[in-house]
Amino acid sequence: MKEGKSSGRPLTPWQRSAEFRAIAVRTLRAFNAARNTLPRCSAKAKSTGDRCRQPAMASGVCRYHGGATPKGKGWHKPVWPADGPAFEKKLHRKLKTQERTRKRKSAKLNAMTDEERRQHDNWRRAHKIGSAAARRQAKEDRAQAASFRAMLAADEPKAQSLEALAVQAELEQARAKLDELMGVGIFG
Ligand SMILES: [Zn+2]
Repeated sequence: MKEGKSSGRPLTPWQRSAEFRAIAVRTLRAFNAARNTLPRCSAKAKSTGDRCRQPAMASGVCRYHGGATPKGKGWHKPVWPADGPAFEKKLHRKLKTQERTRKRKSAKLNAMTDEERRQHDNWRRAHKIGSAAARRQAKEDRAQAASFRAMLAADEPKAQSLEALAVQAELEQARAKLDELMGVGIFG
């Protein structure tokens, strides 16, 4: 076994112990044997147009294609770094990214025309942050409200025909008056 003299650093347990080395070798061999059968990212790579070749995360896509982005209940919630040696660095990076995103968003909103802003607000109303169940419920509520509005709109011709009846009555009255003036009315 080589001594770590060249680098001057003490050997890690992995380098010192034959047992640990054997564990590492076994694990790597098992991974290499299985890597071709592991699930692949289902996304298409923009650069080539072919299927992405990265191993998939639990979500079915790789981390480059949003595999690490929370879904369902965790959707749109910030993911804070896990505890570890790089925690502070990652936290700072996360906070900086959030601040940059916030500034970009507000600049984008300020640059919008009234019509664009109206469309944006509509989109936001239809894509509320929350659990999948809450969004499903909101979708059902919207569909119900839409069918209710359609029902009301279908009733509207009745109201119009009422108005038409009133106009017709006025017309009849005017005709009667005309007949009277012309001397050919019902009493004529
Ligand atoms: Zn991918």
